[in-house]
Amino acid sequence: MRICDTHVHSFRSFVGADDMTLKNMESRAKRIGVDTIAITDHLMSERDVDELLTTRDDILSFRSGKPGVNVLFGVEVCEVNHEGMTLLDEELIRHLNLELVIGGVHETHVQQGASLEEVAVMQHRHHMMMMENPLISILVHPWWLDREEFTRLSLTWPENMSFIPEELTVELAHASRRTHTFIEISTMSGLCNRDASAQFRNDLQRYYQLLMNEGAYFAVGTDSHQISEMESIASALEMVKKLQIPEDRFWQPSF
Ligand SMILES: [Zn+2]
Ligand SMILES: [Zn+2]
Repeated sequence: MRICDTHVHSFRSFVGADDMTLKNMESRAKRIGVDTIAITDHLMSERDVDELLTTRDDILSFRSGKPGVNVLFGVEVCEVNHEGMTLLDEELIRHLNLELVIGGVHETHVQQGASLEEVAVMQHRHHMMMMENPLISILVHPWWLDREEFTRLSLTWPENMSFIPEELTVELAHASRRTHTFIEISTMSGLCNRDASAQFRNDLQRYYQLLMNEGAYFAVGTDSHQISEMESIASALEMVKKLQIPEDRFWQPSF
């Protein structure tokens, strides 16, 4: 099986550090045994399109130098309203020549002071909308939550994952099977997320176990914003081994 990191951000993205150049990513990937990386900067507003085009050209010229790892041109789409709409359509996919589309939920979509139960229901609803979007291949960082938003909306920051009913996870796994959408085993926004408590990060293993048992498909993504974070892929691979997820359940490049 190819070891792929399907979620990294370049220095051109507002979240990517200056060291996230293609050259640096290539040498780090080689050193840690990753053979495919996908550069997936955000598509959050129309203004991002020009930057994405520049990144695509960077990648194409980088590839002509025959790098030691496969570098894919992808994008991370976000929901832009409460109905799960994104800015991506087929025409834009063609215009950008995108090779991979990943999608992540970046807001809770709840009112000030909502309960964690309400957060769970809304977050799940948005996960499901991403799964049902035929343009999205991978749902990234499930249950990554924005700590600043929680403070702003006076929401209780969850110390563990017990507020998420198991039937929601089962429904997500079944949607993954039905729509053939992969679910990211996320490190920097999941297993290694510095904002999450140790218990929450621990609970993620049980969460992925349930998704596995219910037949979900998976991808591994670090969501690296700086070079050293690419090494966190080791935590995901360790968990994959522990959970004994079969190889044929993983996202693989088509070449
Ligand atoms: Zn994200
Ligand atoms: Zn990301």
